[in-house]
Amino acid sequence: MVATPIGNLGDLSPRALETLAHADAVVCEDSRISGALLHRFGIEKPLVVYNDHSAPRVRPQLIKKLREGAALALVSDAGTPSISDPGYRLVKEAHEAGIPVRCVPGPSAPIAALSIAGLPTDRFLFAGFLPPRRDARRRELAALGAIPVTLVLLERGSRLADLLADAAELLGPRMAAVARELTKLHEEIRRGSLSELAAAYRDTAPRGEIVVVIGPPEKPTADISEAAIDAALLEAAARLPPGRAAREVAAATGRNPEELYRRLKQLREAHAQE
Ligand code: SAM
Repeated sequence: MVATPIGNLGDLSPRALETLAHADAVVCEDSRISGALLHRFGIEKPLVVYNDHSAPRVRPQLIKKLREGAALALVSDAGTPSISDPGYRLVKEAHEAGIPVRCVPGPSAPIAALSIAGLPTDRFLFAGFLPPRRDARRRELAALGAIPVTLVLLERGSRLADLLADAAELLGPRMAAVARELTKLHEEIRRGSLSELAAAYRDTAPRGEIVVVIGPPEKPTADISEAAIDAALLEAAARLPPGRAAREVAAATGRNPEELYRRLKQLREAHAQE
């Protein structure tokens, strides 16, 4: 698993170069992007395309090659493979087949953003891209918001303002940072409260690639809005029996589980009458 730059080519490590140069083939998401990277460093290798579309067909072939002793280097378009990118299932199946899996660590946009956000890093939760549909996004935000940790999310510029506005409403007054175009010419880190950032991006969608980092609530139990508790309860109840759903949200928020159980019943009755 070979990490590649998220912008600045100077971030390709000497060990990544050596691994790519010695691999029998490079497995990549997009042969044009990875072909151009290899070409830039004077490396010529057979490329095998492994993306969400081709993975089910290609994976057994890759496992067969690995079993036969081939050394394959997996890269993604940018950053660390298998982090919101293809790779996890291939790694899992390689382990199951007794094939050694090694990492060549390096850039990763979520970790790079977290490192310069100036928000607590002792406990964080990476949730990738939230669903684009508003109601599904709000349900997930509310469920994540009930967990007292720093959240690390990916988002497109065109949806950033909506994400920040929903987060400001559902998560309350938390500090956050928008990290844009990291390691590139227009690298930017903008910090503020969720509502300040939502206002700052309301009228102009920023260009480029973005990571959003949302700090934990300062006082975990007090800062969670009632709407977020309701959404977290409904989200948990969609997966779990009501008692367990109430206990899960109670554990995450410090609320009383019996009170949350009663509240969940009322919420469900109210929804049934709608
Ligand atoms: N596996 C990758 C990694 O470790 O960085 C992440 C893959 S994910 C599909 C790609 C997303 O990461 C982009 O849509 C953007 O949200 C974020 N991203 C990638 N490069 C970035 C950069 N230079 N600056 C800010 N965000 C970046």
